[in-house]
Amino acid sequence: GEWSGDAIHRRFLEFYAAHGHKILPSSSLVPDDPTLFLTIAGMLQFKPIFLSKEPRRVPCATTSQKCIRTNDIENVGRTARHQTFFEMLGNFSFGDYFKKEATAWACELATKEYGLPAERLWISVFEDDNEAFDIWHNEVGVPKERIKRMGAEDNFWTSGATGPCGPCSEIYYDFYPERGSSDADLGDDSRFIEFYNLVFMQYNKRDDGSLEPLKQKNIDTGMGLERMARILQKVPNNYETDLIFPIIEKAASMAMVSYAKTDDATKTNLKIIGDHMRAVVYLISDGVIPSNIGRGYVVRRLIRRVVRIGRLIGIRGDGHGNSGGALLPSLAETLERGEKLLDELLDEALLSAGNNGDKPSLSGKDVFLLYDTYGFPVEITAEIASEQGVTVDIEGFDIEMENQRKQSQAAHNVVKLSVGNETEIVKSILDTEFLGYDSLSASAIVKG
Ligand code: ATP
Ligand code: MG
Ligand code: MG
Ligand code: MG
Repeated sequence: GEWSGDAIHRRFLEFYAAHGHKILPSSSLVPDDPTLFLTIAGMLQFKPIFLSKEPRRVPCATTSQKCIRTNDIENVGRTARHQTFFEMLGNFSFGDYFKKEATAWACELATKEYGLPAERLWISVFEDDNEAFDIWHNEVGVPKERIKRMGAEDNFWTSGATGPCGPCSEIYYDFYPERGSSDADLGDDSRFIEFYNLVFMQYNKRDDGSLEPLKQKNIDTGMGLERMARILQKVPNNYETDLIFPIIEKAASMAMVSYAKTDDATKTNLKIIGDHMRAVVYLISDGVIPSNIGRGYVVRRLIRRVVRIGRLIGIRGDGHGNSGGALLPSLAETLERGEKLLDELLDEALLSAGNNGDKPSLSGKDVFLLYDTYGFPVEITAEIASEQGVTVDIEGFDIEMENQRKQSQAAHNVVKLSVGNETEIVKSILDTEFLGYDSLSASAIVKG
């Protein structure tokens, strides 16, 4: 029979529960850790245990963790396997079992529980990790030609610049085993998909980059629910699984198009809507409210993008037909006014560049005006501008932001000091630090 996303999720947790793991709830998308922006993996809630800052409550655990990876936003709808929001199923050992058990169970789960043919599974190990190579080959029985040694970029997992980390081993599924193994490349995503990562968490990465052995050897794993659903439901990408497709179908019907019959660009846009709507709903339900700063800015950017793309593919909020704008009417209106201004600014930029022989570009002041008055995230402005071959002056925008930050901070400090409310001052300073983070990441994204 067909595997629903829900059945895949349940089978994972039940399998590890049957092997002595305690089923624990997902933690919030907002990590309980000021150094982290959003929850990117299942291990975050266990970080203090890995670092021995907290005692373990159980020897081993299993979870289904809600995750957001904003670094994958450009991949959404463009690769078959990336969303910003996804569910990561994981099993964790806190100094209990290590490589042998983790490896054997992962293989048993994939082949016996989910029924994947063993000959379609490929393995990557960290280049120096002979122990993992030998376990896969001698104990699990994977032929040598299907075990690849890879470098640190793929096979040494760290949750951030510092913190618990270690070599990892990943399981890939082969959609085309008939192509053989002679020149197989696990990086070829038209043939392979990485679905399960086993991290042998045994180091703490210090500030200076050096690796300190942890007190005990841990296991941290992550299996992407949508990726496993894609494999088991035999659909061409994560978006066409039962986990996301209903949202896409709803959006398609609002735009009065058929997903199956529409062109690729519209399909990509529908996938982006499918992903971003999920991300927005889960972020808001974890208490992240759209705003100009920090995490709230992520929500805002995602909503803006959904509204913009929705309009692009024909979802109208004008009261005729299926009204997408009914979802967010005032937002759609502000966006419309902002778009008019942006259109004018783009026309001007194109015209004056044509006259001077320069490259067309929007000034930092203009980008800031759109941001400040119409709530246009920089990335959205850059995205629309680039459709017309116009670049945006991100440095100029950062300067405008910085000026505003200084002004508002000065204002805050005056007011708050006069009432002597220290927590408010701390909050305003914290908020402004987040602004810096966003404008930095914005320039990184646009320039990269
Ligand atoms: P990829 O190389 O495909 O970007 P990754 O190596 O960055 O994946 P890990 O950090 O190893 O991913 O995360 C563990 C698992 O979580 C992956 O094997 C995959 O199944 C899932 N996963 C990671 N990123 C995403 C994403 N953006 N969307 C959906 N699933 C994801
Ligand atoms: Mg990735
Ligand atoms: Mg990878
Ligand atoms: Mg990986």
